[in-house]
Amino acid sequence: MKKIIIAIDGPAGSGKTSTAKIVAERLGYIYIDTGAMYRAVTLAWLRTKQPLNNEVLTELLKNIKIELEASPKGQITKLNGNDVSDEIRSVEVNKYVSPISAVEIVRTAMVDLQRKLAINKGCVMDGRDIGTTVFPNAELKIYLTASIGARAKRRLNEYMEKGIKDLSFDEIATQILERDKFDSTREISPLTKAKDAIEIDTSDLTLESQAEMVEKLALKIINNIN
Ligand code: C5P
Repeated sequence: MKKIIIAIDGPAGSGKTSTAKIVAERLGYIYIDTGAMYRAVTLAWLRTKQPLNNEVLTELLKNIKIELEASPKGQITKLNGNDVSDEIRSVEVNKYVSPISAVEIVRTAMVDLQRKLAINKGCVMDGRDIGTTVFPNAELKIYLTASIGARAKRRLNEYMEKGIKDLSFDEIATQILERDKFDSTREISPLTKAKDAIEIDTSDLTLESQAEMVEKLALKIINNIN
């Protein structure tokens, strides 16, 4: 059975991660959250308490090992062997992840790792540049969008579930918009819809229906090539 690569890109809070997880599970594919990798680099940098420059990041990249592992409760992100899945979602990491992700040496290292992880195909990968840079030949490219209101509400709910209550809806919306602006205007691999990506606006969709839409599109391609 031939397998495909499914690239899911889109701005923060558009539903990429939740959708990608469900689709991967249903197809028996591996799921790779590339945002988690950039977040792990950001956490590692925060821990160094060093300024943000190429020299510090070059040294850092030499000394860190990022692993993504599947587990019954979802994907675990490991930094040098330790589970940092919760820590990489902190407000502090959210603040610095975009500037760190814009640095060329960081992107080169992460894209290299992402391509290696998906070498056998059978993979759903979500991020900002998967359909444009990491896998420009992916068999299925999805670009998820949603209104800023819907996206901020999702983030707020995520924070509440974790007991983080120090950010208001408006503050979260502002942070998301800032991150989107940074991600879509950076020089290297900016967040943008690939020409051949299928755009889905998830503002008024349930998670189940958006996952089903992507799964159906994937099955059509998989059935065609097998
Ligand atoms: O998807 P998530 O919100 O976890 O991504 C965090 C950040 O990582 C994004 O705002 C972006 O700056 C960066 N990122 C990226 N390229 C990717 C995935 C994430 O630059 N493929």
